[in-house]
Amino acid sequence: MSNRDLLQRSLDAVWHPCTQMKQHASEALPLVPIACGKGVWLYDFDGRRYLDGISSWWVNLFGHCHPRINAALREQLDELEHVILAGCTHRPVVELSERLSALAGGMLGHCFYASDGASATEIALKMSFHSWQNRGFQDKQEFLCLAGSYHGETIGALAVTDVALFKDAYAPLIRPAGIVPTPDARLAEAGETPVDVARRAAAALENHLERHHPRIAALIVEPLIQCASGMAMYDPEYLRLARGLCDRYQVHLICDEIAVGCGRTGTFFAHQQAAIQPDFLCLSKGISGGYLPLSIVMTSDAVYADFYDERTSRGFLHSHSYTGNALACRAALATLDLFADEQVIDANRSLAEHLGQCLAALAGHPQVRHLRQRGMIAAFDVYTDDPEFSQRFYRQALVNEILLRPIGNTVYFMPPYVISRDQCAFLVDRARAALEAALGR
Ligand SMILES: *Cc1c(COP(=O)(O)O)cnc(C)c1O
Repeated sequence: MSNRDLLQRSLDAVWHPCTQMKQHASEALPLVPIACGKGVWLYDFDGRRYLDGISSWWVNLFGHCHPRINAALREQLDELEHVILAGCTHRPVVELSERLSALAGGMLGHCFYASDGASATEIALKMSFHSWQNRGFQDKQEFLCLAGSYHGETIGALAVTDVALFKDAYAPLIRPAGIVPTPDARLAEAGETPVDVARRAAAALENHLERHHPRIAALIVEPLIQCASGMAMYDPEYLRLARGLCDRYQVHLICDEIAVGCGRTGTFFAHQQAAIQPDFLCLSKGISGGYLPLSIVMTSDAVYADFYDERTSRGFLHSHSYTGNALACRAALATLDLFADEQVIDANRSLAEHLGQCLAALAGHPQVRHLRQRGMIAAFDVYTDDPEFSQRFYRQALVNEILLRPIGNTVYFMPPYVISRDQCAFLVDRARAALEAALGR
């Protein structure tokens, strides 16, 4: 197999995601052929390497081909690859559910399984709606999300997503949710702190809930960081206030931790930094270490009780063929083992500090604004009116042996936790070279 051969066959046969295929067919945006991966590195068929600075869309928490996850999966393969979860059960799904609810402080003891993040969003929305119906709140049929939110791209998930690029073409198909202001700290006015911005956004939420709460089932948020719309970071104060308001107005709080969960922000779950409990917690992306598609919606005893009944119709009648796949659950268990055995949350604290130190030099760059970081996510915005900046940067990054995909003019770093200090320095150094090249300096 050669690079060239694979590229041509891919263009002929594969419809790639999030892409205008015509650009891939030209020289403007060549596909990157990947033959194998090891740790933070990806390799093509000629041995060219790329440091995976975005954990392959935020999923490969421990890099590629991790020996311990590989070994766990090999073992699982010889025991049980999959079994129908309607009516049957198995060890990996039980253990994973128990361990996740322990990690969430024991308050989210009921885990529902699917295979991708958008499905987790759909499940949380349906569960919230249905639980209010079962409780006799017939009017609670609407949802609320934040400006700039992203919760997935199926039709139901797009309803609570506020990213025009993904949503506009499908607007006629969507029953849109209400949108309230984002607590994005970049919106601070002169003299305002991030906490002030959070309070201002919470006041707008209060105003909205005061008027509309009888019709609202749930507020869905990405705790601490709105990742897909450009790594918008905000103060935990917003989550504290939103939790209080949701309680006051009888509205569920859904924490979508698909991107920010699993240690990304410095705690295992991001909402823990606000010391709150959500009614629903969505997990996916990193939970299986980036090995297999898996998503989980965790919920409370109270919600579970709303469905527990003699009547089938009051049950949560939702299913996916691969619900609770044994291999995916086993990959997740191996991922949780790594967190425990290698004290990853603690280790990440100093790793994140190091990443921050490497990045600090960029703060003074004349075209860099809003350099920001929380845990193992760092980002900055590039001030340029070049509409092609993002593509230009991406190409220059590849030339510099790093894989980074800016979101518009936001360059971000979400490296695997196995990145070394030297590799952090390499990543930032090469990103700076790519930035200069992309800006034509
Ligand atoms: C990626 C993401 C999703 C969607 O997950 P998919 O597996 O891509 O469907 C939902 N919410 C958030 C916050 C995400 O980052």
